[in-house]
Formats: sequence, structure tokens, C-alpha cells
Amino acid sequence: MTASGLTAPPPAPPDTPTARRPPTATPGAAHGQGRPCVITRRAEFSASHLYRLPELTDDQNQQRFGACSLAPGHGHNYELIVAMGGGLDVSGMVLNLSDVKHAIRREVTDPLNFRFLNEVWPEFDLARPEGRLPTTEALVLAIRERLAPHLPLTGLRLYEHPKLWADVLVGPAIDPMEAFLSIRTHFAAAHRLARPELSQSENEAIYGKCARPHGHGHNYLLDITVRGGIAPRTGMVCDLAALQQLVEELVVEPFDHTFLNKDVAHFADCVPTAENIALHIADLLSAPIAATGARLHKVRLQESPNNAAEVFAETPQLEMVPAALEAFAGV
Ligand SMILES: [Zn+2]
Ligand SMILES: [Zn+2]
Repeated sequence: MTASGLTAPPPAPPDTPTARRPPTATPGAAHGQGRPCVITRRAEFSASHLYRLPELTDDQNQQRFGACSLAPGHGHNYELIVAMGGGLDVSGMVLNLSDVKHAIRREVTDPLNFRFLNEVWPEFDLARPEGRLPTTEALVLAIRERLAPHLPLTGLRLYEHPKLWADVLVGPAIDPMEAFLSIRTHFAAAHRLARPELSQSENEAIYGKCARPHGHGHNYLLDITVRGGIAPRTGMVCDLAALQQLVEELVVEPFDHTFLNKDVAHFADCVPTAENIALHIADLLSAPIAATGARLHKVRLQESPNNAAEVFAETPQLEMVPAALEAFAGV
């Protein structure tokens, strides 16, 4: 830094945490000072909402939003994961967790807890033309806008329940209206891992017990993540019911309670490892999901408590949801 200030960073706005400054790594510094790190903080709140657009009739609302359109609404126990990044301060912290906790409480959980979301923030005031429904993805986006001035966010995840959650990222290259929406479902299926051109002993050398001749089964957990812009009035990345129906019709129904090697044509000549099943699911879903207006981002297939496979259907490695958020998934 020079006296002229030519190379000095711009002064931080008054409300900007010191951790937002670009980290200047100084290896060996006491308490890791300056080294970059991402931290996460979890919070909970309970709130109700109603999916009903005033410009639609009761029948149209019912057709579009199903039971979510039934007055006076219904509620969820939401779980919020906030990821923040920056250089460590002199105390060895990205931020003082007490400050983080108070910012989340002041900006998010106090205003939202035990409230009717449709009436709590102007984003959800449907009397305004720019108002949108308080969907999971619209809500996490609104939370990001509340927290961004106070915390050095890298991403947020909001669980509406363990089988439905939304993520938004933070950064200069991020489309501010874009979100990731994930659904979880499951199916049970049997498989045998073996390549037909190999002998039994050769297959057992590669696949171990999974090559035993009569197969074995798993209760598969399947997470489907789509990415897209949040629609102006519905607040949705895509039609959730349509997405659930696609996954049900194209994957769960044909795969559930089958012997994959024999009952699913694709696996007649393709070893149904967790990786290959996840890839096949991605291939089955990519085009139909694209037709809904969203893009398939990721398929995660958990075969057992000990192993899972993830397939990124878009360009790998680019703009992936931060690992700090993923650490809370699948538990
Ligand atoms: Zn709901
Ligand atoms: Zn297996």
C-alpha cells in the first residue's frame, strides 16, 4: 500500500464486516490470520404460507398449486443454512459467531418465526405487480437480500422439509434471480454387479460380494436438483408438481421393486453401479426437465449410508453449490 492510496483497497462501507475484505494469505501468521475459510451457521423457524394468486380463479389456483392453494394456508418447520467466507481475523475466526447469530435472528428468524409469510415482506405482497408467492426458492432469495448487507455470504440453503430445499449462491457471476431447487425421493431395487464377458471369479475380484450370482438390494435415496430463474408471480423455478411427476413417472415407477439388470432395459448391457444408475437417471430426466423451463443440475443417488454417486448434468465443476452447504445434505 502506498501513501498515495493508488494501490489501497477502497474503504469498506460502515456496515461491511471486516471479513469481506479480500483475504491476504500470510502463511504462518498467528491464528491463521488472513487465510480464507468458509463457515456455516444453521437456524430454524416455523411459518405458514398460501399459494393463491389473486388474478386466478379458485379453480385455476387449485389446478395450478393443488392443496397449497387451500385457505387459510399451511405451515412448515424451515431449516436455514448460511455459508459465509472470508479471511481469518486476528482471533482465528472468519466472523464472530455471536455476531452471525444475532444478524440471522434480527434479519430472518425474528421477522419470520410463527408468521404468515404472504404478509411478512413486500416481496410477497401479491397486491403489488412485482409480488410473488413465498415459495422455498423465493423465500431463500429474499433471505439472501436481507442478510447480504450484514454477512459475507457465499450461499444459502433453505429446507422446507427434508425432501424439499432450495439454494441460492452469492457472487459477481451469479444471476441474482437464479435458484437451485432440490427434491428427494426413494426407490427400492435389486442389482448384481458383473460384466458378462468375465468369469465369476474375475467379477468377484472386481466387485466383491456385489457380484454374487443372485443379486442383492438397496433402498436408494434419490435427490434431483434443478436450476432456473425464479418466475415473477409464482416465485417458482419450475412447476414443482410437474417435476415430482416426471421423477415419479420416468424413474421411480419403472425402477421401484425391480431387479435392475433384468427389468430395466438400459442395464441389460450396462453394469448398474450407483454411478451408472445416477448417469442413466440424468439422461432420462435432462430433456423432460428442460421442457419445464428449468435445467437439470445434479442427480445424487445414495445407495447406502456409506456410499453415494453424484452426476452434474450441466458443465461440471462450474458454479456448483458450495461444498459447505452439501455437508448438511443427505444426513
Ligand atoms: Zn408449503
Ligand atoms: Zn449393491
